Amino acid sequence: MRTIDSLDVKGRRVLVRADLNVPLDGDAITDDGRIRASVPTITTLAERGARVIVCAHLGRPKGKVAPEFSLAPVAARLGELLGRPVAFASDVVGDSAREVAEGLEDGEVALLENLRFEPGEESKDGEARGAFAARLADLAELYVGDGFGAVHRKHASVYDVPRLLPHAAGGLVVTEVEVLRKLTEDPARPYVVVLGGAKVSDKLGVIANLLGKVDRLIVGGGMAYTFLKAQGHEVGNSLLQADQLDQVRGFIDEAAKRGVDLVLPVDVLAATGFAEDAEHEVVEATAIPADREGLDIGPKTRELFAGKLADAATVFWNGPMGVFEFDAFAGGTRAVAEALIASGAFTVVGGGDSAAAVRKLGLPEDGFSHISTGGGASLEYLEGKTLPGLAALED
Ligand code: ADP
Ligand code: MG
Repeated sequence: MRTIDSLDVKGRRVLVRADLNVPLDGDAITDDGRIRASVPTITTLAERGARVIVCAHLGRPKGKVAPEFSLAPVAARLGELLGRPVAFASDVVGDSAREVAEGLEDGEVALLENLRFEPGEESKDGEARGAFAARLADLAELYVGDGFGAVHRKHASVYDVPRLLPHAAGGLVVTEVEVLRKLTEDPARPYVVVLGGAKVSDKLGVIANLLGKVDRLIVGGGMAYTFLKAQGHEVGNSLLQADQLDQVRGFIDEAAKRGVDLVLPVDVLAATGFAEDAEHEVVEATAIPADREGLDIGPKTRELFAGKLADAATVFWNGPMGVFEFDAFAGGTRAVAEALIASGAFTVVGGGDSAAAVRKLGLPEDGFSHISTGGGASLEYLEGKTLPGLAALED
């Protein structure tokens, strides 16, 4: 991949695809990690005299203008973090975008409105996507792909625009790929992967691929109950992906065959309901009462998992161990995060909620080797899939 050093950007309009998809509460940004991660590339380009036009998406407005998904609050925060004004276009490729793009002087920065207000951005129809991509490309002379969190999407701004303009990968994408390559090519051993969270079916693909690579696979969070059920235990009202049980049984057999140490919870916090103040007690993972749901791993499990991480040389962690948004059920996630920090291993955290958990729990971000801005993107990379946004930057 070419880096931005290879582009002659002075005095030229450079379209930067960034990932600014941050969680919002009304207009308030609750976690600005992705904006901060986008700052270095934009700053470098501006300092080199580029006229920087940033584009990004926010949420899922599905091709329609929806004020609650406006990037306006993000433009304000980006300006604060850059320490330079950010002109904001009130549309994506319309009159405002053209006017803002044409008005830029060397070293100035603008942000376009949410790409996903335009149906062409995510269209499955190559022609519709291409037509939108052409209008986007028309705003600029060069393209920089720096939105790592979106590189697994075959979207106009990610996949089609770099085929229309001379392009390079931004520093964030270069760093993310370097880190993930270390995990896929020749990880120092023991190599331990910790999986949790709620999106079980999304994460099964990565398990199939990882069983051939890891020494230990630790499964916690909402995912673990499908594994416990597959082993024949009752899981009460816990999160369960009933249609994946056969596949999960296959993973359990495969792990045994390959000598991968598959580590599951031995106790859980079983709650009366999904609520911050739900009554709860510690129960054995093999004896979850029918009217309870597991919302966090229990104390014995925290110790077990920490022990399995203590001698690791490489760790990839994706997915919280419990419903960390509720203080009463954040302890398991905290214990695992602390075990990663204490391990001294090369540690990578991937996943929007996992990264948010690290910050919410007040853990030091520099306690980890790398916190990825991409959840889906990092998992698909580890699965060995070709990511459209990276492929487009390679050509
Ligand atoms: P990431 O964004 O890091 O990839 P996911 O999106 O897969 O992680 O999952 C995060 C969500 O999983 C969190 O909102 C958390 O509350 C939820 N979760 C974790 N453990 C459980 C559980 N035992 N039951 C229900 N939800 C859970
Ligand atoms: Mg998530």
